[in-house]
Amino acid sequence: MKIAVAKGDGIGPEIMDAVLSIFNAAKVPLEYEVVEMGKWVFDKGYSNGMTPDAQKTIEQLGILFKGPMETPKGKGVKSVNVTARKTWNTYANNRTFQTLHGVDTVFSKAGIPIDITIVRENIEDTYGGVEHMLTYDVALSRRFITRPGSAQVIKYAFEMARKKGARRITCGHKANIMKLTDGLFLEVFYEIAKEYPELKADDVIVDDLCMKLVTRPDLFDVVVLTNLQGDIVSDLCAGLIGGLGFAPSANIGDHICIFEAVHGTAPDIAGKNIANPTALLLSGLSLLRHLGLMEIAAMIENALLYTLELGIHTGDFGDRNTTSLGTTDFANAIINHFGTSPKIGAKPLIPNQPMTNTVFHLDNNPMLENKSGTDEQIMGVDMFIESNEQPTVIADKCLRHAGVKFKLLNISNRGTQVWPTGSVYTNLVNQFESLDGLPLNQQDVIGLYVSLSGNYKICSLELLNMWGDKRAYSLAQGQ
Ligand code: NAD
Repeated sequence: MKIAVAKGDGIGPEIMDAVLSIFNAAKVPLEYEVVEMGKWVFDKGYSNGMTPDAQKTIEQLGILFKGPMETPKGKGVKSVNVTARKTWNTYANNRTFQTLHGVDTVFSKAGIPIDITIVRENIEDTYGGVEHMLTYDVALSRRFITRPGSAQVIKYAFEMARKKGARRITCGHKANIMKLTDGLFLEVFYEIAKEYPELKADDVIVDDLCMKLVTRPDLFDVVVLTNLQGDIVSDLCAGLIGGLGFAPSANIGDHICIFEAVHGTAPDIAGKNIANPTALLLSGLSLLRHLGLMEIAAMIENALLYTLELGIHTGDFGDRNTTSLGTTDFANAIINHFGTSPKIGAKPLIPNQPMTNTVFHLDNNPMLENKSGTDEQIMGVDMFIESNEQPTVIADKCLRHAGVKFKLLNISNRGTQVWPTGSVYTNLVNQFESLDGLPLNQQDVIGLYVSLSGNYKICSLELLNMWGDKRAYSLAQGQ
């Protein structure tokens, strides 16, 4: 079987060569096709950081093993790492954080074991990067949370938790504030939980989750989160087990999967043969297990754990009083320990499973489940206007445009109501949201837009829909 390999930038080639040397010594039955991705590909003029040939190869082979890649600064290009995850719909980012004996942390010293898997939604949320300057002073980012997108990642998390033999699966969220976006994610979590009665499913607000993770990490098992919150919480978890050098990552999709370390290109130590290859090796082991190569993955992992247990280390961790090894020597130490097992936490030699096919062909973009809201009715519109006037002045002008179809219900600023009631202590920036409401159609809204544009620049607008008796929009603070 063949997989695509992109060595990456900075320390990427050094740690990838080290990991592939371990795989080759272990006679991993894989062939590697090296593809062109990374900073130097941006520099050649490919704005997505990969050549068309690289894209074609990865889409044919279905598995990409990649080193870290640098995003050029200030050239208006987007991260190749994020582009790859989004383009190929790798909707679930799986990051497993385990106590590694030989890697000292406050928890290992206190005898508190850690074995947490963070599943982060990988495509949606503010990572769509859909952002606009509404006015010179006001930037707006759109946060997309969709029902089918949430279902894909949450379903994956439950399946993975079941396979892992987890006791508990927790949804981290901020649905107390973001009632529609995080609220939808949480709703889907509990819908899917019904299919897994053997798992204890619960939820925790993300700030409380962070506090609990740093005080009692042993209480958590599998945690599923939206993209940005998952990004932050997973780095926090990397800190619990000794840092980014030990944090593997698998980006899972239905057709293409990407395995990589969590850390970046470490430009400060690149080219010195001192980088720690453990995180990339652990990512490679999850790749082997994903393909069904259980035995060889356990053999290599036991050799790694034994090596760490002996106190062998690269310069970024371990006992400062013992000499650290360079990247290549560290990899050779692991190879020399093939066939050994650590005293604590040895991985069982599970028989191989049938190799997963990694060659895919699709003719059309898959359309995810698409339920439209039943009994949908436009009840109003939020118009985001640019103005430096006081709320009462804006209200007077807007009321002139309301006509018979519209009623001015509310003016808010940055989500806080300032008219018809509010407080003079609410600071204003030059952008207002106004809200009007009666059963309407889109032509009515266009009519209001044209009329109001006589007085104001309308920076953005949102329809306010009712689905039956359910409001499909949030209210302003204080409304
Ligand atoms: P970084 O992870 O590269 O480095 C942070 C610190 O950790 C540095 O001190 C570095 O020396 C150290 N470090 C990281 N990996 C190490 C390893 N394997 N062994 C020993 N020490 C290690 O983060 P950064 O400096 O913020 O980012 C550098 C570049 O990497 C940026 O261009 C960023 O966009 C990119 N990046 C890429 C990925 C990815 O490819 N998935 C992820 C994060 C950052």
